Amino acid sequence: MNGNGELTTGRGPVAPEGVAEMQRRFFRTGATRDLEFRRRQLRTLRDLLVQREADILEALRLDLGRPAAEAYTSEIGVVLVEIDTALKRLGRWARPKRVRTPWLLFPGSSRIVPEPYGSVLVIGPWNYPLQLVLAPAVAALAAGNCVVIKPSEHAPATSALIARMIAESFGNEVMTVVEGGVGPTRTLLGQDFDYIFFTGGTGIGRIVMTAAAENLTPVTLELGGKNPCIVAADADIGTAAKRIAWGKYFNAGQTCIAPDFILVERAIEQRFLDALKAAITGFYGSDPAASPDYARIVNEHHFDRLAGFLGRGEIVAGGEADRDRRYIAPTVVTGVTWDDPVMADEIFGPILPVLAWDDLDAELAALQRRPKPLALYVFTRDGNLADRVLETVSSGGAAINDIFAQLLNLDLPFGGVGDSGMGAYHGKAGFDTFSHHRAVVRRSTWPDPALKYPPYGNSLALL
Ligand code: NAD
Repeated sequence: MNGNGELTTGRGPVAPEGVAEMQRRFFRTGATRDLEFRRRQLRTLRDLLVQREADILEALRLDLGRPAAEAYTSEIGVVLVEIDTALKRLGRWARPKRVRTPWLLFPGSSRIVPEPYGSVLVIGPWNYPLQLVLAPAVAALAAGNCVVIKPSEHAPATSALIARMIAESFGNEVMTVVEGGVGPTRTLLGQDFDYIFFTGGTGIGRIVMTAAAENLTPVTLELGGKNPCIVAADADIGTAAKRIAWGKYFNAGQTCIAPDFILVERAIEQRFLDALKAAITGFYGSDPAASPDYARIVNEHHFDRLAGFLGRGEIVAGGEADRDRRYIAPTVVTGVTWDDPVMADEIFGPILPVLAWDDLDAELAALQRRPKPLALYVFTRDGNLADRVLETVSSGGAAINDIFAQLLNLDLPFGGVGDSGMGAYHGKAGFDTFSHHRAVVRRSTWPDPALKYPPYGNSLALL
């Protein structure tokens, strides 16, 4: 035990083998049930993020060419807010909830008691490589679990930094990092974790869920999707264009809840395109490659995949690509149909197809037949139209007249549905995800009426 009452099995790099059992041994000591213990871990993580801010921003710049302002808000800031919310509300979240007790159980009381699962595995993607492993880790720690983090190998500088930082400040039995790609992840998935929280693509999500099924391990899957953004003729075109351009080109479009494509009412198509072009120039200037506020594509593989989309349709903005710098300009494309490759899967880059519509119901019917996306956006001043869209097309989350807003409110659960995932987190939803909600009834031993015991005779008729 160290001064914090933690059983230290050492710090520093750990091999993936046996890590779940190593943490579970510590979990069984009951140390993590203490709320003060959990708060200490959260404060340690908070201090780490504040102290290592410069290192984190540099790692994100190396991996993704992330502009510092974007990187700070979407990686460090988001996790700090999660930590502060958990520190403030943990007592309330963790308190057993009294529920009604039927007369059959009188005298007695009933409660729902959140209890931690044990050792939790968090697997993350490369696009927000820090936020998407540490925000789930915050929720898991707050709920009293131990955590194994597996960051993405495609953001190597950030992955190495997370591993170093966590090893410096946490005992491996409380929170540890296993780095690497498919091999180490498979080794982890072969172990009997108590919960698996995965963020990544839908295809890998299936692999993770299949592995989890072997051990009956519960999972949360935060997956991707092709997020529609509908713009109606009555929308505030200028504001819609600015908000859409910001959401699409933030992190060069490598955001799971970025608008994937636009469905704009034909009557305003040209005005909307003009406003979109003006927004792009306003944000990044006439040469976005020179803008300090515009990110790069993560690697050559994704660059080549995205560059392959540029030959189709009519490019009305951007279209430039430079493989050496992994740069793809903020691009707007028209003249594509649902049969074009760019409309087949999640784009996950700074290319925005704009399709015009005359009949909203036909568009909604087409969207209904597609896999359920992670996000759905509608720009309109007409509340009935927005309701119609939301009632017809399901999605993980949705925002009306804004982009990303559904993610920024920690009182809202964040998660997908159907192909975009299952389960949710952020704020209390995260605490609930990483807690088993146990049903507990406490009874008095007196009275103990004989009528429930055999021989029953006619006694059950009294119930
Ligand atoms: P990915 O699925 O390729 O990788 C995610 C993680 O899985 C990585 O840590 C990787 O090492 C691991 N992995 C890869 N192949 C594996 C295999 N065969 N077996 C076991 N593990 C494996 O995802 P990505 O490319 O890093 O991220 C992009 C995807 O993530 C997009 O689809 C995006 O929409 C999605 N995403 C979703 C959210 C969300 O909150 N729902 C957030 C960000 C990204």
